[in-house]
Amino acid sequence: MPTTAIVSDIHSNAVALRAVLADIDSVGADRIVCLGDIIGYGPEPLESVDLVAERCEWSLLGNHDFAVLYEPTNFNPGAESAAYWTRDQFEAEPDEAKRRERYEFLGRLRVRVVEKIGPWPLLAVHGSPRKPINEYIFPDDAINAYEKMRQIFDRVDRLAIVGHTHVPGVFTDEPDFYPPDELGAFTYAFNEDEKAIINVGSVGQPRDQDPRASYVLLHDDRVEFRRVEYDIDATAKLIYQADRLSDWLGDRLFEGR
Ligand code: ZN
Repeated sequence: MPTTAIVSDIHSNAVALRAVLADIDSVGADRIVCLGDIIGYGPEPLESVDLVAERCEWSLLGNHDFAVLYEPTNFNPGAESAAYWTRDQFEAEPDEAKRRERYEFLGRLRVRVVEKIGPWPLLAVHGSPRKPINEYIFPDDAINAYEKMRQIFDRVDRLAIVGHTHVPGVFTDEPDFYPPDELGAFTYAFNEDEKAIINVGSVGQPRDQDPRASYVLLHDDRVEFRRVEYDIDATAKLIYQADRLSDWLGDRLFEGR
């Protein structure tokens, strides 16, 4: 039974990504895939892209990858400034072939991938099944946005995996939302009578008040949420040193928000 490690929302936090990759290696996953937002916000975009290119079987295009490659849309000033700073880091690469290779990698990122996991069709997008790059599915939507959730679940055959909100957990078509600590053993077992959208959380900028890096292990019959400690100081220091990256981007890492 193959095991897939799923990472998302790395946001140029290569320190967190390296810690997660070491954890994945220690549990012995068969492959790794990435749901996008490799870059944006954080201090090490080149290292992050190189690691994903080297270690992941495929990766999706997130709104921040899009912003660096094309133009930011609807970004707040801090995120926009980080996107332009990130682009400058790619531009400053002195090795012409390496520079082209990274742009080609970003340009090949896909908007959606459909696979099979056990007997189940599995849809992978960064944001949501109806607006794959940009739409957020918030935990509160399970309570407050019945029509939105209905339309989103209409586009899911059985299972979908997403990132984008940086808040891990499972949406069911009830609709309901379960954070990982409300699932027994941080594990959601797939269920024939239920559709599920699984948010894998964020490697590089968690926003669920838990500062540890988040990722999941996907098995044929279940998904397992994992958290990994990393050297937050190291990433925050690099953010504080880069004058076009707002200090808030470092501060928030300590609090997981
Ligand atoms: Zn993100």
